Amino acid sequence: MVISKVGTEVIDSHAHFFTYDTIKRWLDSGASMERLQNRVTFQTDMPKLAIPDENWDAGQMWADELDKYGITAIGMMIGEEVWDEFNETRKRFPGRFLGYANIDPALENAVDLVKRAGKDDFQGIKLYPSSWNMHVYDESVYPIYEEAKKQNLLVILHFGITIGDRANLRFGNPLDIQRPAQDFPDLNFMIAHFGAGFFREVLMLMYQTHNVVMDTSGSNMWMNYQDVDLTITKVFERALKAGASCRVVFGTDSSFFPRGFRYNILEEQYNAVKSLLPQFNYTQEDVDLIFRDNIIRLTGFKPTND
Ligand SMILES: [Zn+2]
Repeated sequence: MVISKVGTEVIDSHAHFFTYDTIKRWLDSGASMERLQNRVTFQTDMPKLAIPDENWDAGQMWADELDKYGITAIGMMIGEEVWDEFNETRKRFPGRFLGYANIDPALENAVDLVKRAGKDDFQGIKLYPSSWNMHVYDESVYPIYEEAKKQNLLVILHFGITIGDRANLRFGNPLDIQRPAQDFPDLNFMIAHFGAGFFREVLMLMYQTHNVVMDTSGSNMWMNYQDVDLTITKVFERALKAGASCRVVFGTDSSFFPRGFRYNILEEQYNAVKSLLPQFNYTQEDVDLIFRDNIIRLTGFKPTND
């Protein structure tokens, strides 16, 4: 058993695997490094990001980060361009990386990629409706859910505000997933960042659905764009009241180096949960659900140390 630095077992359910090939693909697509650095400086908690070069071993760097903070495993969003490197990483460090394939339903090979994710033993797929030109209930997205069900994959969704520059919040409302969740009662859906601004909508889904959960990942800066004052503790309180400990899934949204694993987020969220235990009559079992067991239940993932 691996115990993290906060004193409990932790699986980070939401992070990003960026490599040299990710950056290369961005630049090839016409993205500007200067614009990216600016967004990082002004809209995130990183002063700057280190640009991976060809010699980077992202897998080793992440494995070292996990060891440093005592993190059991981490779930990575995987773009097609880093797929092979990620597969190789999982072979070298079995039981430490969950994989979720980024899927854009507008692409011709979308369903094939979902199938490939299943064959490659990934744990889920990641959809990004805030940057789409269609709703997640559009019938053209249904083949994706069909295949995800066949392959037994968790469906992670980023609704709400996003740092991506192709956002269209008209497609970013979590209520959009209600109908697919009803149509696929055996499929699990996880909404990232508590809905990233559509918090109320996600809380309502806790009442209306049985197969939707929320992840806690990131700095949750969306709190600054609400019409009420929120703190991370208040957010957890509302989330636990609406969804209970079995539907709140810890994540950090770690991505770039030199920042690496976002230990500050683990610490902050762990303290928030700790402070709420008496109010909810929760025990260590509930802490374990949030920080480790929920993501295992949702994906069937087997960490090495089990
Ligand atoms: Zn993310």
